[in-house]
Formats: sequence, C-alpha cells, structure tokens
Amino acid sequence: MKFNREKEVEHLIERELKPDGITDERVLQALYRVKRERFIPQSLKDRAYGNYPLPIGENQTISQPYIVALMTQALDIKPSDKVLEIGTGSGYQAAILAELSSVVYSIERIESLSAYARTNLYSQGYNNVFLIVGDGSVGLPEYAPFDKIIVTAAAPRVPDPLFSQLKKGGKMAIPVGGRSVQDLQLIEKALNGRVYKSSLCGCRFVPLIGGEGWKD
Ligand code: SAM
Repeated sequence: MKFNREKEVEHLIERELKPDGITDERVLQALYRVKRERFIPQSLKDRAYGNYPLPIGENQTISQPYIVALMTQALDIKPSDKVLEIGTGSGYQAAILAELSSVVYSIERIESLSAYARTNLYSQGYNNVFLIVGDGSVGLPEYAPFDKIIVTAAAPRVPDPLFSQLKKGGKMAIPVGGRSVQDLQLIEKALNGRVYKSSLCGCRFVPLIGGEGWKD
C-alpha cells in the first residue's frame, strides 16, 4: 500500500498520543508538522509513524514518538527558549524543539550521526539548530545557561555540569537509572534555587557514554 503521511500521522496523534495524555496543542502540532520519515533510513519509511523507536545506524535509535512528545510537553518549551539537547541521533527531536523554541544546541558523540542529522535538518530548513560533536554529558558551558535541557540517552545520575548549566526557573528532562531500564525524570530548578524532581514514566534509552555518563 502507498505511504499516506497524513493518515499515518493523524492515527499516531489521535490513537496513540492523545489517549496517553499528550494534550499540549503546540506539541501535537509540532509532531504533526515534523516529517519523521525524513529522519530514518528510506527502507523504514512505511513505519515512520509507528509508536516505537527505529534503528538509525551505529547501534542507535530514533526515540518512540510518545517519549519525544512526553519529554517535549513536560519541558513546556516557550518561543524564546534556548534549549540544549544531548544525543542528536537522527535530529528528529531537535526538529521538534526547533519548531517550538528560539534556538537549539544539540550534541552528539558519534560524528557520522551528527552528519546524518545535519543533512536531515538543514535540507528541511531548520536553521535554528546548532550541531556539536562531542561528549554532551558535560554540557556546553560556552553557551550556558539554558532554559531547557533534554537528555535523550540514559544517565546513571543527573550530571552535575548539566544541572549547573540550567537556568534558574529552567527544566531538564532526563532518563536516569541503569544501563537498560530507567526512570524518565523532570528536574525543575526553581527561581529560589530549590530543586523539584518528578517521575514521568519508566523508559529504555541507549546509554549516555561519557565523562558524566557510562563508560564505553
Ligand atoms: N534524539 C535522537 C533523535 O531524535 O533521533 C535520539 C537519540 S538516541 C536514543 C541517543 C543518542 O545519544 C545516540 O545517538 C548516542 O550516540 C548519543 N549519545 C550517547 N552518549 C552521548 C554523549 N555523551 N554525548 C552526546 N551524545 C551521546
């Protein structure tokens, strides 16, 4: 059967995301607009709007749409926000963030994936995303502080450098736990300096490899 993007994306939004609590209209519209089929290998195009992760090479994955939507919704991205993403992968989550914020810095440790994301993003005009190759577990101090930080790989704990690079009043979404199973956490750094942590759901991310993450 011929790939019908509109039908597939509507099914994802109406049958999978909304019933599971994704209700923020801006997030849903971003999910509607960003073409997930442009961030995966061509051979998987027919599965672009399935609610599951897909392989993108180098043993890495593009995250499940529900998890992308849940993390984005929890971060409550504002149009003026400066966002830091750790784990560029395909560039799909960065594109969703770019739709909602002013500027996105995204770090990826695997050079070939960063190059893949660059092609995917720039060919579609996402010019407010800056891609960096390196160890994102230590953040990007030269551009800090950030309004929002999203970590799309599993960390053993919240990396101190990332927490320090979060603005007061800012939010961070991060999977924390073991190498294979984690708790998806929302960390809020209140204006008075207090820290609030909440759990969004259980999850399975690939490991964050680096100085403040797991060893390779
Ligand atoms: N956000 C991605 C997307 O939309 O396609 C999916 C990210 S994938 C689940 C996790 C990514 O984190 C992988 O590409 C992996 O190479 C990367 N990664 C792991 N440790 C990292 C680190 N210390 N710094 C930057 N990237 C890292």
